[in-house]
Amino acid sequence: MTTNNRLTTSWGAPVGDNQNSITAGSRGPTLIQNVHLLEKLAHFNRERVPERVVHAKGAGAHGYFEVTNDVTKYTKAKFLSEIGKRTPLFVRFSTVAGENGSADSVRDPRGFAVKFYTEDGNYDLVGNNTPVFFIRDAIKFPDFIHTQKRHPQTHLKNPNAVWDFWSLSPESLHQVSILMSDRGIPATYRHMHGFGSHTFKWVNEEGKGVWIKYHFKTEQGIKNLTEEVGTKIAGENPDYHTEDLFNSIEKGDYPAWKLYVQIMPLEDADTYRFDPFDVTKVWSQKDYPLMEVGRMVLDRNPENYFAEVEQATFSPGTLVPGIDVSPDKMLQGRLFAYHDAHRYRVGANHHALPINRARNEVQNYQRDGQMRFDNNGGGSVYYEPNSYNGPTETHENKQTAYVVSGVVDSVGYDHNDHYTQAGDLYRLLSEDERSRLIKNIVGAMAPVENEEIKLRQIGHFYKADPEYGTRVAEGLGLKIPQKVR
Ligand code: NDP
Repeated sequence: MTTNNRLTTSWGAPVGDNQNSITAGSRGPTLIQNVHLLEKLAHFNRERVPERVVHAKGAGAHGYFEVTNDVTKYTKAKFLSEIGKRTPLFVRFSTVAGENGSADSVRDPRGFAVKFYTEDGNYDLVGNNTPVFFIRDAIKFPDFIHTQKRHPQTHLKNPNAVWDFWSLSPESLHQVSILMSDRGIPATYRHMHGFGSHTFKWVNEEGKGVWIKYHFKTEQGIKNLTEEVGTKIAGENPDYHTEDLFNSIEKGDYPAWKLYVQIMPLEDADTYRFDPFDVTKVWSQKDYPLMEVGRMVLDRNPENYFAEVEQATFSPGTLVPGIDVSPDKMLQGRLFAYHDAHRYRVGANHHALPINRARNEVQNYQRDGQMRFDNNGGGSVYYEPNSYNGPTETHENKQTAYVVSGVVDSVGYDHNDHYTQAGDLYRLLSEDERSRLIKNIVGAMAPVENEEIKLRQIGHFYKADPEYGTRVAEGLGLKIPQKVR
């Protein structure tokens, strides 16, 4: 309780001098008995928590979600139960590969993570500004991210590694094409769409499920930066997107997105022409049109960046009844990796921090751990089953059962057409957009020293669309390999 503006130590005692260290005489050495000084320096050394390995640079904002369409036929999620219902939320946008102090306006996917504080617990929708991803099995994720990070010897970014990995992982072609297109550098965080990217399952009151994909469409319109403008801004104001989001909200210009879902009957998953759980593919909107769900508005800035944005912990496994996962192999890996990252980075009790805490009461038998700063369950019963009226499970909230069959093996996906959808994207671009795409790719691939890597990647572009591959090859002064033609 603050009753005046008296400066205190971290244990609450008044501080007599916060400007001068205690020394043995005016020119003498500093004394170890100056415990306030020791605590101040030691705390300062510990001001940083480990940086996120990916998505380190980000900006966040509070807001709300309002339901605008009746989706109760598909999900029993309480926050979606009524038109007009509002749920508070927190969003964190980020780049992926750069460090905490890196520039915002670089070519990189953007993280688009939303935490809904629902009455049934928190629901995290941890997506990107792209509908697909580079890889489709989490076992490749650490290798992929290594190629996006720095070379172990030079500590420099390494285009050779980037294109080596991509050219040997053709499932990345669709996302690489999006990344190298105009949408690879959004003008601001406000001017981009968001996607859940993975397939999820919605389950209704009767226990009937559907597969879904989420799309947040920006109401500000899509706006992008060219490579040249992005590079210029990165030098002049590396925090451009962070500043834009904060200032827009501060002046009352609240950014908003409409949320839509695509809905696929469960049985279609066996017959659809692409594997609907493969996160390198989209579901064509001609097959599964967008259905409106609601609207997200960001209308309040964080009070404190560290407490709210840096300590925010999102995970695709933070689910509520009515929303479930799919067998997407990338999603399945993320269900472990995200919570684990937060246990390491913020601590085992990260859920209890104000920004992460559920708005409803959390009741379970977890106790203790570092930084347990609430009453740790007091004297209440701390095991289950028990005879002392402790909290119990509610069977209606079990995950829905479904049938699986097959051989336990590491077999990958059945569908390996990595070219059609990347080609569809190329073909929907205007001539100007295509020219910029080619220019961006040529610029990014030019520093690759190994010609074999370049030719392998050109082969992928060619298979997506012969014009696409031919133009990249021409830009790099190379010929389409004979075996690809
Ligand atoms: P549709 O014509 O029904 O949809 C095209 C989609 O592409 C729209 O979502 C549109 O979103 C988006 N789009 C338009 N211009 C660009 C661009 N320059 N860069 C990236 N996306 C753009 O076709 P399909 O659903 O059959 O998909 C065709 C191709 O569109 C796919 O292969 C995929 O590459 C791309 N795409 C598909 C999405 C999907 O969920 N089906 C989502 C995003 C892209 P908008 O007009 O709002 O910008």
